[in-house]
Amino acid sequence: MPELPEVETVRRGLQPAMEGAVIAQARVNRPDLRWPFPDRMAERLTGAKVTQLRRRSKYILADLDTGESLLIHLGMSGRMTVSGDPLGQFAHNHPAAAKHDHVVFDMDNGARVTFNDPRRFGAMDLLPSDNSDSHPLLAKLGPEPLGNDFHEAYLVERLSARNTPIKSALLDQRIIAGLGNIYVCEALFRAGIAPTRKAGALSKKHIQNLVPIIRDVLEAAIAAGGSSLKDFRQADGELGYFQHSFDVYGREGEPCKTPDCKGKIDRITQSGRSSFFCAQCQR
Ligand SMILES: [Zn+2]
Repeated sequence: MPELPEVETVRRGLQPAMEGAVIAQARVNRPDLRWPFPDRMAERLTGAKVTQLRRRSKYILADLDTGESLLIHLGMSGRMTVSGDPLGQFAHNHPAAAKHDHVVFDMDNGARVTFNDPRRFGAMDLLPSDNSDSHPLLAKLGPEPLGNDFHEAYLVERLSARNTPIKSALLDQRIIAGLGNIYVCEALFRAGIAPTRKAGALSKKHIQNLVPIIRDVLEAAIAAGGSSLKDFRQADGELGYFQHSFDVYGREGEPCKTPDCKGKIDRITQSGRSSFFCAQCQR
């Protein structure tokens, strides 16, 4: 499941193909993904210019010159690919249409953007640009972890007196938007905090330390995604999935990476999701 850094990488990969370009033709090959598409989606998108490509949490928002914004959610298995050469004079050959290519945008610069989603947990919707924050998927989201509204005093206030484990609190999208299982595990490891600790029982200092750690973990992953973009064209044009090495995530039974720590990475299940941690380093 893509998390914030993967979605940000997709956004950056789509930018040269979509931003400032007109959707010359939008094709919608089925009535729905996770939810039905909005009425006449293809017609409302065809001819619209993409003025800006933004990200809010794990959603990509394409602001259009029609006053609407296209919301894109990759869900569990949604993939976006770019084919053609938006910067060259002639479009390269596009790959043959594949099964599960549900939405296709042919841009006026020669690029083709394809949304493929075998499991159809993804979503697309159209919403008024000037009121996009009130969309049901966006309205209750907390601040962006890389934005100015996420800071030490905010996190201390939101976590104090919370009786839930810190792992669950950090996954709560109303507290921080876009943080998922992988990067919460990584952040808690760097912070030396056990995922089972009650949020409200943590010291103020511990909570304050989490803010720069969360930012660093996400920024490092976005940087890894950025370097993957440099050569995505040599592969198949698929955006957003990149090799990234984790300290604890997916490393059950492997040695802890902390110098001189003899511990091994443990895995427990919390609220139905795996938590990876080192019991020696994280208390
Ligand atoms: Zn350790």
